[in-house]
Amino acid sequence: MTAPPSAPGDRAPVTILPFQPEHEMFRDMARRFLQAECVPNREAWEEAGMAPRSAWRRAGELGLLCFRQPEAYGGQGADILFSVALMEEQVRAGVVGPMMSLHNDVVAPYVELYGDAAQKARVLPRMAAGEWIGAIAMTEPGGGSDLRGMTTRARRDGDEYVVTGHKTFISNGACADLIVLAAQTEGGISLFLVETAGLAGFAHGEPLEKLGQWSADTTELFFDEARVPASALLGGVEGRGFAQLMARLVEERLMTAVGAVATIETALARTIAYTAERKAFGQRVIDFQNSRFRLAECQTEAMVCRVFLERCLMKFMAGRLTAEEAAMLKLRTTEQQNRIVDACLQLHGGYGYMLEYEISRLWLDSRISRIYGGSNEIMKEIIGRSL
Ligand SMILES: Cc1cc2nc3c(=O)[nH]c(=O)nc-3n(C[C@H](O)[C@H](O)[C@H](O)COP(=O)(O)OP(=O)(O)OC[C@H]3O[C@@H](n4cnc5c(N)ncnc54)[C@H](O)[C@@H]3O)c2cc1C
Repeated sequence: MTAPPSAPGDRAPVTILPFQPEHEMFRDMARRFLQAECVPNREAWEEAGMAPRSAWRRAGELGLLCFRQPEAYGGQGADILFSVALMEEQVRAGVVGPMMSLHNDVVAPYVELYGDAAQKARVLPRMAAGEWIGAIAMTEPGGGSDLRGMTTRARRDGDEYVVTGHKTFISNGACADLIVLAAQTEGGISLFLVETAGLAGFAHGEPLEKLGQWSADTTELFFDEARVPASALLGGVEGRGFAQLMARLVEERLMTAVGAVATIETALARTIAYTAERKAFGQRVIDFQNSRFRLAECQTEAMVCRVFLERCLMKFMAGRLTAEEAAMLKLRTTEQQNRIVDACLQLHGGYGYMLEYEISRLWLDSRISRIYGGSNEIMKEIIGRSL
């Protein structure tokens, strides 16, 4: 089955993923939301450094949030292919914020998989409605790769934990109502469900100014003796945080790869269309042998990435995707994403450097994929250790 095109010149990727009519209906609805309600506001949201709460609410109303969670918690019990469809459409539309995949595929599953019944009942329906926006806070100014070295502490004091520390580069940090916070406790690293509303001793910084992804905020978080109830400890047992983070990073890397492959395909589709129109020396740019060869190389690599991605998605759905495979996938697809988008920008000439052209935004928004979700050097460490 093929995903329908969404932009002029967009070629539907051939996929062997078992998309069903309900996935395609969901894809259509996501596309309509993105095109009608996000694309026209993109510049305003970029200016503000984030998408507004109303966009999250609307996404919640439409069923675009936490749809993979059980129905009992406001979800639709959907599979990962719905997340794939949403991510692909978001990339094709050029809409970064609201960062729905982070909310849906990264934050909510911590609550679903490791939370107790009360935590799930409190958090998940609110996240599904877009009433609460989720974030995950691991990274600190002193280091993001070496997670064991984090210094944020949560000290037990009666019925509460007292949290002190500093996190940085946190996506959705400025708008988050619910933060999955990693902190050192007596029993090792633990995760906490921190509700930010009215929390004394908590503050977030202004959205950090960054190279790309302007409509999604990335911020610092400050905890100064912030008191959270003991019931905020995820799953109620200390010391499980590191293993929980490692387990969940597999899916985060898989979804990063979905975004990378969608970006590659979007960049190529736009570049094929552009070079077929643009003329130089009396002929179409696509008719220069250099352009054709470059595009042929990129198209071949795009296919390799898609095949690898789909194999990993199938293994994930069968519960058999390993951490090493997810690391290889993230490494390969994000490295190629950056190479191919750069080659595509080159084929646009000077227009490629203009923000008015989507290829320039794809280039800016792509650079981070080799750094976050575990840098690509850390991916090589994971792969190397398994050899
Ligand atoms: C836009 C954006 C959004 C982000 N969102 C989030 C978020 O929502 N939540 C969150 O917790 N974090 C988030 N991050 C943080 C991100 O995950 C980290 O930046 C990343 O893990 C790298 O950590 P670091 O920046 O501290 O770099 P460092 O760990 O200081 O690494 C610096 C360099 O050294 C390399 N390096 C480190 N260790 C090794 C090693 N063992 N072997 C070889 N090379 C090594 C790294 O690859 C890198 O090239 C985000 C970052 C950005 C920029």
